[in-house]
Amino acid sequence: MTVSKRKQDFPILFQQVNDEPLVYLDNAASTHVPTPVINDLVTYMQTSHANVHRGVHTLAERATSQYEAARETVRTFIDASSVKEVLFTRGTTTGLNWVARSLGELVVEAGDKIVISRMEHHSNIVPWQELAKRKQAELIYIDLTEDGELDMADAKEKIVSGVKIVSIAHASNVLGVVNPVKDLAKLAHEVGAVMVVDGAQSTPHMTVSVQELDCDFYAFSGHKMCAPTGIGVLYGKQTWFEKMSPIEFGGEMINFVYDDYSTWAELPYKFEAGTPNISGAIALASAIKYLEEIGLDTITKHEQELVEYVLPKLLAIDGFELYGPRDASKHTGVIAFNIKGVHPHDLATALDMQGVAIRAGHHCAQPLLRYLDVHSTARASFYFYNTKEDADSLVESIIAAKEFFS
Ligand code: PLP
Repeated sequence: MTVSKRKQDFPILFQQVNDEPLVYLDNAASTHVPTPVINDLVTYMQTSHANVHRGVHTLAERATSQYEAARETVRTFIDASSVKEVLFTRGTTTGLNWVARSLGELVVEAGDKIVISRMEHHSNIVPWQELAKRKQAELIYIDLTEDGELDMADAKEKIVSGVKIVSIAHASNVLGVVNPVKDLAKLAHEVGAVMVVDGAQSTPHMTVSVQELDCDFYAFSGHKMCAPTGIGVLYGKQTWFEKMSPIEFGGEMINFVYDDYSTWAELPYKFEAGTPNISGAIALASAIKYLEEIGLDTITKHEQELVEYVLPKLLAIDGFELYGPRDASKHTGVIAFNIKGVHPHDLATALDMQGVAIRAGHHCAQPLLRYLDVHSTARASFYFYNTKEDADSLVESIIAAKEFFS
């Protein structure tokens, strides 16, 4: 089966929007859930749903074993060495907040430095700003090259003694670049800093091995990779999780509760307070199996082909301004742009009238947009179920919108 034939697994994509066939190009925000994953979720709900870890009855045991099997599926997917290193979260934002809160308490002191980059999502900025405020530490940004790539020369100048945490996106949700997080982890470790990776835009699109990257933490979201919203993962090296304190307290995460103090459960439960998103974790595991069946390398290749096909056509449109590298081989399926003289919100509305769903705004990256000296941009983002016909529709709808506004 060719990759885009997989589109048939997504009934939501076969509908008319504003009397036009839907062309969904907002995958960097959220992807859709294929029928096999929906079916697995329904089966779980109809046959095995119960609370985990607490009961001895059959349904509780079934739910627990499926929830823990989901953790093992995640472990192999990201190549972690133990399930103790895999925490279920609500998504990337929660994962990064947990690290900033708990690791931050452990390793950051007044006068220390935390290094991020100019291309980070607010989820990988604000938690560090708050940590810096709490600890009177300094937040430092790595600059970008003219082409919108991470400036590694600047990274080398900024990742120096006194830096305690480096936290960088593996792939940008605006510029469509992939950052050399393995090299950054090496730089960080050389100065004794901890490497945190925001994997929201990479995990859905490429093979990820946390051991190969040698990062200390890696966070991602299920809803960007064919699972429902409200489920995500925080990977962390066991040595760190052992040392770190829990962020939330309550049921499930304790070992003993005495009258005036408590002791914590072993990993990974120490961090998962309260009833977790059991159905979400099971659906995430189903989505991972679905993606693995296609092959993550095949997904990367398909998206690469789409970008190589569409980017020259877009660049040929008069007034098309691209944010990020012009070289398609350096691009993920995320393309941020503006059309001269047309406000991106007007453009996105005009495209929606033609059935084409793109995003417009600051993409939760206000510091980046300020750095690029632009107020907002349009953004089209592809996934494996997109086709060359979808790419053609994007180009045609932009040309039609441009004519309408001129
Ligand atoms: N980081 C990046 C690079 C993202 O693109 C996103 C979502 O768009 C996030 C973090 C936050 O993900 P979530 O809203 O699922 O927590």
